[in-house]
Amino acid sequence: MSIADKFKLPARYGAGEKSVWVEYIQLALEYKPKVNLGQGFPDYHAPKHVTKALADISNGENPLLHQYTRGFGHPRLVQNLAKVYSPLIGRDLDPVNEILVGQGAYEALYSAILGHVDTGDEVIVIEPFFDCYDFMIRSAGGIPKFIALQPKSSGDNVSSADWVLDEAELASLFNNKTKMLILNTPHNPLGKVFTRQELETIANLCKKHNVLCLSDEVYEWMVFEPHEHIRIATLPGMWERTITVGSAGKTFSVTGWKIGWAYAPAGLMRNLQVVHQNCVYTCCTPIQEAIAQSFEIELARRDTPDCYFNSIRGELLPKRDYLVKVLRENGFNPTVPDGGYFIVADWTQLENKIDLSSESDKYKDYRFTKKFAKEAGVLTIPPTAFYSEEHKKLGENFARFCFIKKDENLQLAGNLIKEWNAKKSA
Ligand code: PMP
Ligand code: GLN
Repeated sequence: MSIADKFKLPARYGAGEKSVWVEYIQLALEYKPKVNLGQGFPDYHAPKHVTKALADISNGENPLLHQYTRGFGHPRLVQNLAKVYSPLIGRDLDPVNEILVGQGAYEALYSAILGHVDTGDEVIVIEPFFDCYDFMIRSAGGIPKFIALQPKSSGDNVSSADWVLDEAELASLFNNKTKMLILNTPHNPLGKVFTRQELETIANLCKKHNVLCLSDEVYEWMVFEPHEHIRIATLPGMWERTITVGSAGKTFSVTGWKIGWAYAPAGLMRNLQVVHQNCVYTCCTPIQEAIAQSFEIELARRDTPDCYFNSIRGELLPKRDYLVKVLRENGFNPTVPDGGYFIVADWTQLENKIDLSSESDKYKDYRFTKKFAKEAGVLTIPPTAFYSEEHKKLGENFARFCFIKKDENLQLAGNLIKEWNAKKSA
């Protein structure tokens, strides 16, 4: 057997070789776009108290804040997570047994999936989906079963609430092999905020078929009024079967800090702890301490408009509205997001203005986003990355734009898009 054959990627990793993030972050380095609206991260400063906490820890007197801390989560951080979430879920979270701190929401998701999904178990995944779910399920030996959100209207004023699941199709995916359903609300990339009624439908099916719900809520603080983030763990009968995931990167606009968490009843958390204790064991202590201190500051002003959990949506709203307007004025048909910080926009009306034949990718959205980055100088993300092989067609007409960017960079993106469109229309 040749070396190449012997050491090929194990088959259980399926399509895991290709990652839109690896490819598009490399493209950002190669193309040097004038504005990067691709990967989701703010290009401006996190709240000052957050970065100051880390600086103070670095310069401080306590040497132990630079050594290993408790494996399942730094004590000060899990205590604060319990204080933040207990009132939101209407029960006293036990910081020791019901919370796990992980290496970003990524690791919290991975520990939940690896800890609960067994060989041959089926996992229901709602498309478009944050791409790593598929890989994580397959690497656990599970079988993803996909169902796509589809726009119920196709006019010029589509909002993320128009993207819905077919209830009969959803019900048909449940059977005695189903172990888990993965929910993501607010949703990446559509910005959909699932309504109580939609969550009830999902919850009733999970209860009927004794299925776990893994709820990825990393954008929980970014929900635009009048929409409201509802935690599925708070629905009747759901606490005992829900694992909820959050992210410090999203909560405090410090995506590079890579700390996340999961919370659930102790019986469900045990499986996550087993995975975590053997592959990560403990996460970065000074970063956990800084996040704990940041939570303390926000908790002290929780009911004021200055609390970051209350102010971030107001910061994001004009950015969303500006980008929606620019996109509409320049031939795109954006889905207006009710939450999160991405806009998915249909570009098919621009197809006659852009020659995609020079790009060799299989899917049109990859060709469009690459050509658009080269011509307009604005980098975006191709949404087929968020679909299973069999449903990629559903994502091909779209591009994903990230709007958690400085106003001046959004203005620049707006000008570049206008210039590109004007040149193409001349
Ligand atoms: N889930 C979703 C839906 C995301 O968009 C992201 C990206 N931040 C993650 C999980 C991972 O978050 P983290 O950076 O905390 O690992
Ligand atoms: N969640 C972010 C996004 O969707 C970052 C993804 C990543 O770094 N893998 O863009």
